[in-house]
Amino acid sequence: MTFPPLREELRGIEPYGAPQLDVPVQLNVNENPYGPSPEAAADIARAVGRAAASLNRYPDREFTELREGLAAYLNSSGGHGITPEMVWAANGSNEVMLQLLQAFGGPGRCALSFAPTYSMYPEYARDAMTEWVVGRREEDFSLDLDAARKLVLERRPTIVLLPSPNNPTGTALPPEAVSALCEAAASYEPGGLVVVDEAYGEFRRAGTPSALELLPRHRNLVVTRTMSKAFALAGARLGYLAADPAIGDAIRVVRLPYHLSAVTQATAVAALRHAPELLGRVEDLRVERDLTVAWLRDQGLEVPDSDSNFALFGRFPDRHAVWQRLLDRGVLIRETGPQGWLRVSIGTPEEMTAFRHALTDVMKEQA
Ligand code: PMP
Repeated sequence: MTFPPLREELRGIEPYGAPQLDVPVQLNVNENPYGPSPEAAADIARAVGRAAASLNRYPDREFTELREGLAAYLNSSGGHGITPEMVWAANGSNEVMLQLLQAFGGPGRCALSFAPTYSMYPEYARDAMTEWVVGRREEDFSLDLDAARKLVLERRPTIVLLPSPNNPTGTALPPEAVSALCEAAASYEPGGLVVVDEAYGEFRRAGTPSALELLPRHRNLVVTRTMSKAFALAGARLGYLAADPAIGDAIRVVRLPYHLSAVTQATAVAALRHAPELLGRVEDLRVERDLTVAWLRDQGLEVPDSDSNFALFGRFPDRHAVWQRLLDRGVLIRETGPQGWLRVSIGTPEEMTAFRHALTDVMKEQA
C-alpha cells in the first residue's frame, strides 16, 4: 500500500506558508503593525467573556449580528444599500474564497485569474477540484483588457478572481475593467462570477474606487474583504463578502455547520464597534507606504504604484541573497512574485527606518 493514500495531485506538495520567524522587524505577511488599543482589547475580551458563558451551545449559524455590523461598515466604506442578506462571512477571506470555489467550481469547470497574483488561488482551485486557468498581466502588472476579455470568453470560467489591489504587485484595477469582465462573464452559460478580492481595499489611494460601487450594476459581481489587514485583526480570522443574496444561499449548502465560532463572532462584533479607532492607522500606513515607494525608487529600484499596505520592488539578479542578508540584519520581508522581485509590508516608521538602513547596507555590499 502507499501510505498515506494521498490524492495523486497532492503528492510531494509542500504546504503553503511564509516563514514565521521571531525577528525584530517582521514585514513579510502584510499584517497591520498596530495592535488594538487597551480599550479595544478590553472590550473584545469582555465580549468573548460573555460568549464563554454559553459555549455549551452551538453559535448563531446565521451570525446575524455580525452580518448587520459588516453591512453597516461596508456602506461606510464605498458601498451603497448593502443589506445583511448580501453579506457572508467565514474564517478569513481565504475560507470565503474556498467556499466560493466549492459552490461554483468543481469538476468540468474552471477558475481564472491573471498572474502574477495571490499564490493561494490555484490552491483553492485544486482543493475544490476546479481547473485553474491563468492569463498574464502586462510588464507593468496592469491588465490588457481586450486580452483579458478574450480569455474569459474563450475559457468560460465560472469564477474569475480579480484581486484589487493585487497581491504581490499592490496594483488596483480600474472599475471599467471590472465592469467589462462582469459583462463578459455574464454572456455565456452557465455564466461566471467575478470575484474582486479587496483584502487590501481600505489602503487604496484617493481616487481609486472600490468595486462595492459596482454591485448594483452587476448581479455576478462578488466583492470580498477581510478584517485581517486594515482592521488589524489577522489573529481573529474573519473575512467576508458582499454580493447578491443568492451567492450566500449557495455557500450555505457547502459551508461546514456552525463554521463561525461564538468566540470569532463576539470578537468581530466588538471590533466593529471600535472600527474608527482600529482603522485609524490606515492613513498613517498609507503615508508610510508612499514614503517607502518614493525611497525605493530613489535607490534606482523599480516599484509598481501601490494601493495596498506593501510594496513590490526589484529587480535583483539574486533576490534570495538580498532577502537572506536583510534577515541577517533582523528584517524579515517576503521572497514572492516574479523572479527578481521582493515584497515588503508597511510597518511602523521605526520598522521602515530599520528596513531602509538594512537595505542600504545590503545594496552597498552587492555593488
Ligand atoms: N486575498 C489576498 C489578496 C491576500 O493577500 C490575503 C492574505 N494574505 C487574503 C486574501 C486572505 O486573507 P485572510 O484569510 O486573512 O482574510
